[in-house]
Amino acid sequence: MGTYVVTGSASGMGFETVHRLRADGHTVIGVDLQQTDVVADLSTRDGRIGAARDVLAAADGRLDGAVLAAGLGPGRGRDRCRTIAQVNHFGVVDLLEHWRPALTAATRAKVVVLSSNSTTTIPAVPRRAVQALLAGDADRAVRAVRRFGPADGTMMYAASKIAVSRWVRAQAVRPEWAGAGIRLNALAPGAVMTPLLADQLANPTQARAVRRFPVPIGGFGDAAQLAEWVCFMLSDAADFLCGSVVFVDGGTDAHFRARDWPRAVPARRLPSYLVRFLR
Ligand code: NAD
Repeated sequence: MGTYVVTGSASGMGFETVHRLRADGHTVIGVDLQQTDVVADLSTRDGRIGAARDVLAAADGRLDGAVLAAGLGPGRGRDRCRTIAQVNHFGVVDLLEHWRPALTAATRAKVVVLSSNSTTTIPAVPRRAVQALLAGDADRAVRAVRRFGPADGTMMYAASKIAVSRWVRAQAVRPEWAGAGIRLNALAPGAVMTPLLADQLANPTQARAVRRFPVPIGGFGDAAQLAEWVCFMLSDAADFLCGSVVFVDGGTDAHFRARDWPRAVPARRLPSYLVRFLR
């Protein structure tokens, strides 16, 4: 049996993941704003540092896996945008950087970051916001979405999920992660019925947009089923999964982007011996 940390453990997919892991006999350390083992506000740097430290103490320096599910949905306004950036991006990256030695200690640790299909289904997300987040500058990211007015939170939400997914893919293959035996991956759900989605549905403008979004299979995802995907990505079956963003979204990403992906790597990124072989 292993030791796992789950952020966003008090609600939605994080809560269901904790329930499922504990039912399987694992030790789970939850992190959230309330009703959990480690109470912390991940929207502040001090909160993240405190959470990282308390989890390491509770885990005795060894983690078999981490699930980063704490997150905020789209809202609007500058303060909300800043909090989305802090929780959805830095609340993943900062914690994982602190926990990497403990994950390395477990030899085949697995990390699942909750991304979103907003990464590919929201058009015109400003590249500057994504770049600012990856550069560690939340204020610059907030300025980059300002011109979207009432849609600023939607843009920041998508930018935060793009940034964190790119961070996952870039880090996953590096010696510090893959080379240390850590499998780092992301899960990208579509609309899943949780308190986060219920909040959106309570707002008539957002509700209209959510309900009109094409979902070929129909309806909303189920939080307990998504937790099963998380647990699968934490299991031995995922030993060969590295740097993937797994879409579980009722077909929305495929609906919009069937012709865009998969797409081959440009030849200039391949080692020269391979380019010669292929010609
Ligand atoms: P949820 O609102 O049910 O749970 C999110 C949890 O994060 C809550 O318990 C909340 O307290 C916690 N949290 C928020 N701000 C925090 C902070 N500052 N510090 C510590 N904890 C904080 O949401 P959910 O739908 O289960 O979402 C889980 C993850 O999945 C999120 O990252 C979300 O962006 C992502 N996601 C959700 C959906 C969806 O439709 N529900 C779709 C795609 C991706």
